[in-house]
Amino acid sequence: MNKIDIKSLYIDELAMELKSLGLPAFRVKQIYEWLHVKLVTSFEEMTNLSKELRESLNEKFQITSLQEVDSLHSASDGTIKYLFRLMDDRVIESVLMKYHHGNSVCISSQVGCKMGCKFCASTIGGKERDLLPSEMLDQIYRIQDLSGERVSNIVVMGTGEPLDNYDNLIRFLKLIIDPQGLNISARNITVSTCGIPDKIRAFAEEGLPVTLALSLHAPNNEIRKSMMPVATKYELSEVMSAFRYYYEKTGRRLTFEYSLVDGVNDEEEHARELAKLVKGINCHINLIPVNPIKERNYRKSKNEKIQNFKFTLEKNRINVTIRREMGADIDAACGQLRKSYIDKTSL
Ligand code: SAH
Repeated sequence: MNKIDIKSLYIDELAMELKSLGLPAFRVKQIYEWLHVKLVTSFEEMTNLSKELRESLNEKFQITSLQEVDSLHSASDGTIKYLFRLMDDRVIESVLMKYHHGNSVCISSQVGCKMGCKFCASTIGGKERDLLPSEMLDQIYRIQDLSGERVSNIVVMGTGEPLDNYDNLIRFLKLIIDPQGLNISARNITVSTCGIPDKIRAFAEEGLPVTLALSLHAPNNEIRKSMMPVATKYELSEVMSAFRYYYEKTGRRLTFEYSLVDGVNDEEEHARELAKLVKGINCHINLIPVNPIKERNYRKSKNEKIQNFKFTLEKNRINVTIRREMGADIDAACGQLRKSYIDKTSL
């Protein structure tokens, strides 16, 4: 019989499972706290439970946890990139970024990705599988444990398309904001999507005040299609209308990510078209100089072009920032550490 993935259970579900073992309610709280606050990785560490009880828990449940394979520390800004091994030996990456306002962790939501964006390293080998809620949680738990740093912000912007792993994403979010768990504020969480309209609308109904970011990258359908296969499936107007709906339902300011690629989407006319596209939307635009990956020939825009693009948006009174490149010295860009690990180990 397969063991139950205990870290993916809500506390009331855990209570139901433990009831069948005849445990009193206070034990439920203790066990939940060991898992989600004290962040243990085995039942042996639950020292206020008897040996007998720990053994019977071990028979029924599994504590899904990740193992650190490697970590890269940036000398310039303290960013740490982790490579973790899952229980089925697959590997994923997560990043800890240190900002003045607190520590932020960027997590993966899938092993690989099927979306096929032309500039992204995470999608090259396709999608291997979805991550479990416990595997998303444990990226944060292990980073907090390994680094000794308290994590206050989360961005679901690592490998994978979070809305393509919808149910596990929702469960992960509900567990990480649980006051009885790590209790991270939903307002400090950002979920980034390549834009799947029906999933965005469903997400708006969940009552979770998280920030939603759209990987826009282009001011019109035509350019977007050349960069992102998902744009051939959903028209930009459909995606934008789902995004507006998300704002109406949650009141959360929207974020648009726009990776600037030399000669593709970085002209002044593109900036003007973009300004028109987001006109009247309460939003913030993040400009990201594209991070070149060796498998593709996309190049970063020239500095002057980047500044000019930003200036044109500002003239149109749009909130815009150029994303600071964290951990540039350690290849912190999407999927590159995992990719180079897989390349090396499969030689
Ligand atoms: N699938 C989700 C989340 C993962 S990608 C999404 O599409 O949003 C996270 C962000 O990194 C996206 O905005 C993505 O477009 C961007 N990105 C991926 N590869 C990049 C690269 N090489 N340079 C700059 N940004 C990149």
